[in-house]
Amino acid sequence: MKFSFTSLGSASATPTVNRFPSAHVLNVHERLFLIDCGEGCQMQLRRYGFSFLKIREIFISHIHGDHIFGLPGLLSSMSMMGRREDLDIYAPQDLAPILKSYLRFFGDGFQFNVNFIKVKGKGLISILKTKRVEVLSFPLNHRIECYGYLFRETAPGRNVHKHLIKPYGLTLFEIARLKEGESLVRESGEILENGYFTYQPYTPRLFAYCSDTAPFDELPGFVQGCDLLYHETTFASDMQLMAGQTLHSTAADAAHCAQDANAGKLLIGHFSSRYKSTSLFLEEARAIFPSTYEAKEGQEFDIPLVKHCNNSK
Ligand SMILES: [Zn+2]
Ligand SMILES: [Zn+2]
Repeated sequence: MKFSFTSLGSASATPTVNRFPSAHVLNVHERLFLIDCGEGCQMQLRRYGFSFLKIREIFISHIHGDHIFGLPGLLSSMSMMGRREDLDIYAPQDLAPILKSYLRFFGDGFQFNVNFIKVKGKGLISILKTKRVEVLSFPLNHRIECYGYLFRETAPGRNVHKHLIKPYGLTLFEIARLKEGESLVRESGEILENGYFTYQPYTPRLFAYCSDTAPFDELPGFVQGCDLLYHETTFASDMQLMAGQTLHSTAADAAHCAQDANAGKLLIGHFSSRYKSTSLFLEEARAIFPSTYEAKEGQEFDIPLVKHCNNSK
């Protein structure tokens, strides 16, 4: 039951020979969610062995080139590969005319629907629910309309402690209802408290994606308790002024956000090409939030499953 994040691009505006612009894959139980689609995204998907066909949804944070220039090529390749299944693209409104114009010129032979789903709103908003995961959007603070995304694994059904079944003579009917989270009252008046008889087999995992943004007060609240937080760090604090002017974050800003959000791990990326090395970013962030890692093209960050035991004796 995989829940893992792989960055395909860790550069900001200008791609370099070593770093691609923003595009990332979240694997939830082998279903792939593409997050942003910078230039070269389809080559990176191929390079790291991700099947285009396993992508049913693309989530775009905002309409800056380094987050969307990979879309035209990717969609055309999907068509040439004979795609038939719908593709849903979640993005701010401004992508709609771009997509429409692209499809008018290049979408003639497409055997699949490209559905545009507008992302908007001021708070945390649920935009997609599948059997395995719920996706929520939240606004960021950038020069244009921009959104972050939260991926919350669906909570598993509850299990009944096996060692309690016999002593309490639990019937199949009672077990089924307990699994659904109910507490029961027997005819005798005996109460079967759900919390005592059942347990959650594992903790649902939470991943948060904070694309281009300046820090703001509500942000840690939006991503509170995430196991893994991807947060842009275009600059280090030596370019604080530039970060403020362009509405981006420094490594220290991202680390403070991770700290305030009680995140498990922080993954930083979207590095400006002004920096030859990322050591300054890591040093700065780790001084505030030690569990900080840098996004590297193709490197997978797994969020491990934390199982709960059955207490059986
Ligand atoms: Zn960007
Ligand atoms: Zn941007």
